[in-house]
Parts: sequence; structure tokens; C-alpha cells
Amino acid sequence: MSTFVLQIPDLDEVGRDWNFAIRRDWLASALADTELTAGTKDGRFTVHAQRTGTDVLVQGHVEAEVVATCARCLRDVPINVDLALTALYSPEHMRPQDSEEIHVRLDEVNREYYGGSEVVLDPMVRELLLLDVPMKPLCSDACEGIAVPEHLRPPEEVFGGSVPDSRLAPLLKLKEALTKNEE
Ligand SMILES: [Zn+2]
Repeated sequence: MSTFVLQIPDLDEVGRDWNFAIRRDWLASALADTELTAGTKDGRFTVHAQRTGTDVLVQGHVEAEVVATCARCLRDVPINVDLALTALYSPEHMRPQDSEEIHVRLDEVNREYYGGSEVVLDPMVRELLLLDVPMKPLCSDACEGIAVPEHLRPPEEVFGGSVPDSRLAPLLKLKEALTKNEE
């Protein structure tokens, strides 16, 4: 089910504004197959859309909170997304035959396509949420990661020296064999 839908007949050349709430349950399902989860509050998606012939120019602005996981210590990292995107939607039949998945760009007009008589903006909102999240989110630049308690640390001789422990020899052989198989 799509939530952010513009009906083409509602649009004209002057343009209209929409103000959608981005509910937490929408965030949760949109982010289900990502590393992110929904934040603690609803977000906002404001849209200005105008129609020229069969083309629809959409300017969308997303403000929402998503939660990432710190790459070092695995703690939650709240991320406030505040991004705008412009896209020109054309009818589906105008999509070029050889069009590939195009990466969304913030600094230019993105080409998108719509089917039927409505423009579905759910994918745009999702893209904007994902764009603002760093590849390796950190709870703070100074994060030192998970502190391993003294009694759980491996003894120096296992990982410390450059000479592999003899007990690891069978594993190293196995790894060698596997690597060869891949070649
Ligand atoms: Zn951290």
C-alpha cells in the first residue's frame, strides 16, 4: 500500500502543496530490509507538485528521524534526515528502453516515471531517508568501540605474534584449500 500518492487530475500548472506525516509504522516497513530502524517520532514530508502536459514536477522535502547502529560499538545512533529532492515524473510508456537503475542525485532533477493516473512518492521518501545515512554511522567520532572485559580477551600469543599458533595450522590449511578452489 502506497501512502504518499498524488492524483494527476488534482494537479495543474500553478502547482499544489501537500503536507504528509511520515508515520513510524511506515518508516518501520520502508526500512525493514535496511540496517536502519524507525526513530521515536513521526516525520514530515512536504511536497510541491505541478503539472505540465503529462509531466509532473515534484519537489519533496523529508524531515524524519531514523536510527542507525554505531559501526564501532553497536549502540543506536539517531539520525535526523532533512533533505529535499526534485524529480520530474513522466508517464511510464516514456521510459527509455535501456534505462537502468539511476542513482538519486540531490543536486539535479531526477527522472522518474509514473503509471496510471497517480504519482506514487513512497520510493522518493525512502531514497531520501537512505541518502542521509553515512556508510559507517558512529555514535561519536571518539567512539572507542566495545570494550572487551579483561577476562574475555584472547591470550597475547594467539593473535599477537606473526607466527600462527600451531593449533591454528589445520584451519590455515583449510583456508588455503578453499582459496585455491575459488580460483
Ligand atoms: Zn559507538
